[in-house]
Amino acid sequence: MKPRIFYTKPSITDLEVSYATDAAENGWGDQCYAYINRFEELFKKHLGVKYAIATSSCTGALHMGMSALGIGPGDEVILADTNWIATAAPVVHLGAKPVFVDILPDTWCIDPDKAEDAITPNTKAIVAVHLYGNLCDMDRLLAIGEKYGIPIIEDAAEAMGSIYYGKRAGSMGSFGAFSFHGTKTLTTGEGGIFVTNDSNLYDKVLTLSNHGRSRFQKKQFWADEVGFKYKMSNIQAAIGCAQMERIDQLISRKQLILLFYKKSLSFSSEILMNPDVKGCTNGAWMPNAVFDEKSNITREILCNAFESENIDARVFFWPLSSLPNFKNKEENFNSWDIPQRAINLPSYFDINEQDLSRVVSVIKMLL
Ligand SMILES: *Cc1c(COP(=O)(O)O)cnc(C)c1O
Repeated sequence: MKPRIFYTKPSITDLEVSYATDAAENGWGDQCYAYINRFEELFKKHLGVKYAIATSSCTGALHMGMSALGIGPGDEVILADTNWIATAAPVVHLGAKPVFVDILPDTWCIDPDKAEDAITPNTKAIVAVHLYGNLCDMDRLLAIGEKYGIPIIEDAAEAMGSIYYGKRAGSMGSFGAFSFHGTKTLTTGEGGIFVTNDSNLYDKVLTLSNHGRSRFQKKQFWADEVGFKYKMSNIQAAIGCAQMERIDQLISRKQLILLFYKKSLSFSSEILMNPDVKGCTNGAWMPNAVFDEKSNITREILCNAFESENIDARVFFWPLSSLPNFKNKEENFNSWDIPQRAINLPSYFDINEQDLSRVVSVIKMLL
């Protein structure tokens, strides 16, 4: 058996190890927030935003941000049907209803026309999820948001390094959320961050993030409201600081891997990969190959072919509306159709050219 090619794997160097070790040895007492503060500063500078709050996950960041926007029972939140459940879960936890709409066939991100059509008097937000690093049409979404007075939330968990006409993913909406789960471009093991340019929203989330204790509250153990506890630890933040110092390297490696696949597979007109869109830079978190219907190549054929070569390739997201807790929405044609003939390709930092070629050869064999 050939050695296994993993799907994702973090890039951890001596720098991450030394910062984490320092945090474990010295990051206590008056230093217990030192790496967290530093990580938030580095992240704000990278993204070009005013405020950031490091969290234990992207899901937590979304939960607090949505709560601060006042989303609650009876409200509706519009998002694309194609996604990981993490974006929909906080909507459900707040007692609101996720409304799933179709994606565009080329970017695999939310179709702005479908989003606009789904707006009702109960709509409280639209979530722009930059899927696999591909960017949503933010100009259109922000214009829709403005027209109806609805905030646009950015789930940029997969979009570290993605840039839309000079602005980084996550910096354009009423707030943005990122994930630092072990599979993501930048990792702290588990972790996330809430970012915004809105000082009011920042204040609300800051209070929520500390169990409802306002930063101006002097009374000990006094919570002004019921909040959340989604904090990042100083040790995680130490790893995050090292990753932020290497962020350009982490992103450009992802972009090179996507480019390698695109070049190697460009011989076939039957494969669509993450698109190059005018004015946009793709952070290239996850290279995907979507096969034309005419190729007769299906998800099952792809999974079997990769598994027999000991390569960990993963399926394109199932439509969220197909999951047991939601109602089927097969009219979201692209969301239901594309995953049937698509696959995620391995793309971790240290993957070498030989292994990338092994992945490509599986696809060549199938065609
Ligand atoms: C990974 C991911 C999340 C969840 O991130 P966690 O840090 O695991 O909560 C949310 N949204 C998208 C689009 C993701 O890819």
